[in-house]
Amino acid sequence: MPSIVEEAFNGLYPDKEFSYIGTVRYSGKFHGYNANVKYSPNSLDFKLSRNWKSVSREIQIGLIQALMNKVFRTKVKTMNIDLYNIFLKKVHYTIPKTESDPVLEESFARVNERYFNSIIERPNLKFGGDSFTKLGSYEYGSDTIIISNVFKDDTLLLDYIMYHELLHKKYKFYEKDGRSYHHTKLFRTKEKEFEEPDIEHKLKLFLARKKIKRFFRLPKII
Ligand SMILES: [Zn+2]
Repeated sequence: MPSIVEEAFNGLYPDKEFSYIGTVRYSGKFHGYNANVKYSPNSLDFKLSRNWKSVSREIQIGLIQALMNKVFRTKVKTMNIDLYNIFLKKVHYTIPKTESDPVLEESFARVNERYFNSIIERPNLKFGGDSFTKLGSYEYGSDTIIISNVFKDDTLLLDYIMYHELLHKKYKFYEKDGRSYHHTKLFRTKEKEFEEPDIEHKLKLFLARKKIKRFFRLPKII
């Protein structure tokens, strides 16, 4: 029986020969259903969250194929990848909500009530580093919203980033020609419903000011 890596490869590239040492390891270091792959010209090492152990082989193959598409820069579609994407869109129901933060929880509650009639199930919530480039993200595999620390004291902007990430949780993504689309037209329309028409401008100003403060902080002269 071929290894799961070889089987995934053959399903994805039926005309190519599998010439790698392929490994899959399950690790307790990941949150939720996250995974990654390390690639060298002759090896493919997949590390999957331990939670994947109990997921069907068919869906695991889809995950491995989706990672192979990334590594080899291809956009091949398979039934396994379809299954994996369906799994990824529903898996948040099964993920324990263990991470939170009082500031983020309040923001989530405000935004959820105002824009979603409080119907969105609370994801894991955490602050990331002090990033000016990665403002926020939503991880499907661990049902986690991560928001940059720089918004900790700005309720309006924090809510805006929270709103954006919750839109991801609500609308998910769709695939076409082997690509996933997250910021769709519908997404952008919904994003504009944020009740502060000037918010993008405010966000830019805030980031510019914060950066200046940070990089040109002078000693105080009394
Ligand atoms: Zn986004």
